[in-house]
Amino acid sequence: MSEKIRIGVFVCHCGLNIGATVDCAAVAEHAKKLPHVVYVEHNMYTCSEPGQLQIKNGIREHDLNRVVVASCSPRMHEPTFRATVADAGLNPFLFEMANIREHCSWIHKDKEAGTEKAKRLVELSVARAALLEPLDSREVGVTNTALVIGAGVAGMRAATDIADRGYDVHLVEREPYMGGKAAWFSKMFPLRKCEETCVGDCPHCLLVPEFEEVLDNPRITLHLNSEVASIDGYVGNFKATIRTQPIYVDREKCTYCGECTEVCPVSVPDERNYGMQKRKAIYLPSTGIVPRSYVIDDTVCSHFVGGKCAKKPSCVKACKFGAIDLKEKERTQEVDVGTIVVATGFDNYDPTKKEELHYKHPRVITAPEYERLSAYTGPTDGKLVIDGIEPKRVAFISCVGSREKEGNEYCSRVCCIFTAKQAHSVLKKLPDAKVAVYYTDVRAFGKGHEEFYQKVLDEGVDYRLRELEDPLKVTINNDNIKVRCKGHKDFKADLVVLATGLVPQHDSPEICRLLNLSLSGDGFFMEAHPKLRPIDTFTDGVFLAGCCQGPKDIADSMAQASGAAARACGILSKMALTLGVETAFSDETCIGCGTCVVVCQFGAITLEEIDGELRAVVNEALCKGCGTCIAACPSGAMQQRHYTDEQILAMIEAVAGGGA
Ligand code: SF4
Ligand code: SF4
Repeated sequence: MSEKIRIGVFVCHCGLNIGATVDCAAVAEHAKKLPHVVYVEHNMYTCSEPGQLQIKNGIREHDLNRVVVASCSPRMHEPTFRATVADAGLNPFLFEMANIREHCSWIHKDKEAGTEKAKRLVELSVARAALLEPLDSREVGVTNTALVIGAGVAGMRAATDIADRGYDVHLVEREPYMGGKAAWFSKMFPLRKCEETCVGDCPHCLLVPEFEEVLDNPRITLHLNSEVASIDGYVGNFKATIRTQPIYVDREKCTYCGECTEVCPVSVPDERNYGMQKRKAIYLPSTGIVPRSYVIDDTVCSHFVGGKCAKKPSCVKACKFGAIDLKEKERTQEVDVGTIVVATGFDNYDPTKKEELHYKHPRVITAPEYERLSAYTGPTDGKLVIDGIEPKRVAFISCVGSREKEGNEYCSRVCCIFTAKQAHSVLKKLPDAKVAVYYTDVRAFGKGHEEFYQKVLDEGVDYRLRELEDPLKVTINNDNIKVRCKGHKDFKADLVVLATGLVPQHDSPEICRLLNLSLSGDGFFMEAHPKLRPIDTFTDGVFLAGCCQGPKDIADSMAQASGAAARACGILSKMALTLGVETAFSDETCIGCGTCVVVCQFGAITLEEIDGELRAVVNEALCKGCGTCIAACPSGAMQQRHYTDEQILAMIEAVAGGGA
């Protein structure tokens, strides 16, 4: 390094935040004695416009080629000051920050001790600043196409929002239909006033326009019955492999006349109606769900698993339109995308874990099962009949699998109002029924929720408070069902509905592995920051929408999906992205041991053959500059730009030396 080092130091009082505990003038005086320091100032707010001007003037008038600001955390204002020095013509990486607030004034009461510590911190920064080198940012191009994983309500909204802004979208859905779990609800809350006279709140009315927005948008490519098999690359430049399973029916040709299903000899429980009715091996996933087409379930179809149709498939003969193609094969397709929205939804809590609630009894069902039972597209055409009877006494039990002392400690957020909606539905269908709700709290916090809860109370639903730790039990004796709860008379019930909570999708760990995401303690995908970045993940360019991030209702899922779409479009709208420069790199002393590959949690390092030797190669677009690989590297080959060994050792020596 031949140029003469000329360092300027600016000490900030941050009002009384620093000034009350640190004698900033004394720190500034001390800085004047440090090697290479040629100019020092202290001021009230260095981040303010006058403060920044002082830095710019210092650079110009005193020929500074390094700047140190002693103030707050770099997380707070490093970008501000880097921009300031760049404005004055200095490379932004020739700037260094000493944190004398969070690391000093905020944690000390003794002004003398605080001042001494601040002096040491400035010494470290000056020592490092002398060794800083200019770095240049690099840019990569952006593929202006998005991938949305999951075509439930959140995924559909994210896809249409992105497409409406003019970008192509691949929308991938594991099921052969769109809409996710909401598509199977009887009605969607909040219920509108017209509910007395029409079915305006059922998914068919509400979701069909959403489906059509997807289907009619030429920018959206819908991949049904599909999963994302692999994802490589980095923000702006991902490559995804989409694997599509065959449905054996040509959607263009199928007129959903149903002739095939009439002749199909295979009958199995319909999982979409929770086994409350049967379906054939060739079936229509739902009457109201689009795109409409029959599909063949090859896990039970006797053509595939051996049986009556092995040689002469009945459905093929019955289909007048030649829509059935039993030779259809799995397909894979590679797509290039710049950003990814994950909207994979949730699973329902499995109530068999609560033996005391006797879920296996045919008249003890879950809230999602009640939805199908009460839906006019359901197994009873919307008549409230179960196990051959019309239930005259119905008990709802809240918080099943939520707010547990051990297990799912979180509140599932939607069950209280879901229960109120279903209690209301029982009274709509059977006005003389007696309805009791066993609740722990009623959390009706959404718009219109409290009012609806009051309405349900006025309708005569008997809300019975129970303590979460009370051993509420369902007892069954010769088909007599009773709910037993401390503090209340036993409630004889014809039907018990368990308000099961929302749990993470069973394949969340697999998605985490694909996208390098993290899971929160509750098993849902972890956002980059719960308050400040609730849509982002730690993987640049990957955003979260809907219940995959945590339980939420449809309105909140839609809002978050629009947010995720906006964040995704922020990337798609750029011609190029600037890559971070504080990245790791390895030199020729690498021994190819692979230790760094294992410890890098961002998958940024690969071993490659270079000049006949196996060496670690860092993908700088994926590297976050966390430094883990550098600490783990046994040969010292791995280094990090802007945090070289030399710079860090200089800081240690400065502090070990005890000051100027
Ligand atoms: S018979 Fe053919 S057209 Fe009719 S529903 Fe079956 S697959 Fe579709
Ligand atoms: S091949 Fe036979 S079993 Fe399979 S869907 Fe067609 S009719 Fe049903």
